[in-house]
Amino acid sequence: MFIRLKDLELRSVPFSVALPAGEIDFGDRARQTGPLEASGEAVLQNETLEEIRVRGRMHVEMETDCDRCLEPAGFVIEGDFDLSYLPERLAGEEGREEIALRNDDSDAAFYSDGGIELKDVLREQVLLAMPMRKLCREDCKGICPVCGANRNVSPCGCEVKPVDDRWAALRAQEVRSKK
Ligand SMILES: [Zn+2]
Ligand SMILES: [Zn+2]
Repeated sequence: MFIRLKDLELRSVPFSVALPAGEIDFGDRARQTGPLEASGEAVLQNETLEEIRVRGRMHVEMETDCDRCLEPAGFVIEGDFDLSYLPERLAGEEGREEIALRNDDSDAAFYSDGGIELKDVLREQVLLAMPMRKLCREDCKGICPVCGANRNVSPCGCEVKPVDDRWAALRAQEVRSKK
């Protein structure tokens, strides 16, 4: 759904979408496993600057590879969003002053071609909301560094030398103090 500046000059534009998996290309960073539902509205926030504000709620189930064992790790992304977009002409040097007059610290995003594609907005939001630690489960045991087995499935019994950083730090101190 394309949100046109021309339409916003007349009235706010509501939206309510349920995008099936595959409609938005998340690249290889994540896979969508359920419909992406989003509703809200777009308004012309500032007529002089042609600033477009898009706000609403969304809900989607996503999946990535677990950071530890590489098996699928699923999670739900849901919540509110409230974003402002300025026309691309303000991205240049002369636009900086105008943006500074807005008197807020929010990062400005830019739109071109007379409007904003809602899918692009949602794609960005989903990627931003992805958790830093992507685990299939909190206590995922990961892959054995010795034999490569998935330790959630089969405890392989390999002996992995524990690395204790605290002792390493102490040893390093000792070496320095002897000098
Ligand atoms: Zn895992
Ligand atoms: Zn092993």
